[in-house]
Amino acid sequence: MPKFVDTSPPGQCIFCRIVAREIPAAVVYEDELTVAFMDIGQVNPGHVLVATRRHAANLFEVTDEEAAALMQTARRVALADQQAFPSAGLTLLQANGAEGGQTVNHIHMHVVPRHANDGIELSWPRKEPAASVLAEYAEQLRNALAADRKRETAA
Ligand code: AMP
Ligand code: ZN
Repeated sequence: MPKFVDTSPPGQCIFCRIVAREIPAAVVYEDELTVAFMDIGQVNPGHVLVATRRHAANLFEVTDEEAAALMQTARRVALADQQAFPSAGLTLLQANGAEGGQTVNHIHMHVVPRHANDGIELSWPRKEPAASVLAEYAEQLRNALAADRKRETAA
């Protein structure tokens, strides 16, 4: 399936317009922090997008509360999908940045019922580096997490 191309003018985010009900969308659920609506692409029947109510481009711009709310709503929708569109599997997908596969720059999570041989592909080129390399990567991340914690406690 070709990628979606977002042609909205700058400052006129499509998902903000859906949240504000300025353009139509098939809304399935909403609460204080999130809105869930049918993806116009419908990779499989029951394909829903869960977006934050507030505009935030991606995972790096949401609050902890919004991040938690996105997952909570995605789970609720996934459970509803299991009743309305029973499927053997279900994939959650949340893309950040063009290189991450994001085409609409307002954070959203895809909830996609999955079936055998449904044509959805995500290539996953495993590298399997040595344990010493994994340990080095983990140390870099622990340092970054510790620096974050320090900044938070200083603030
Ligand atoms: P992503 O590539 O993860 O940014 O996904 C963007 C998704 O938004 C695509 O799957 C589009 O089909 C979907 N989309 C774009 N415009 C609309 C719209 N007006 N209503 C519902 N879904 C939309
Ligand atoms: Zn927006």
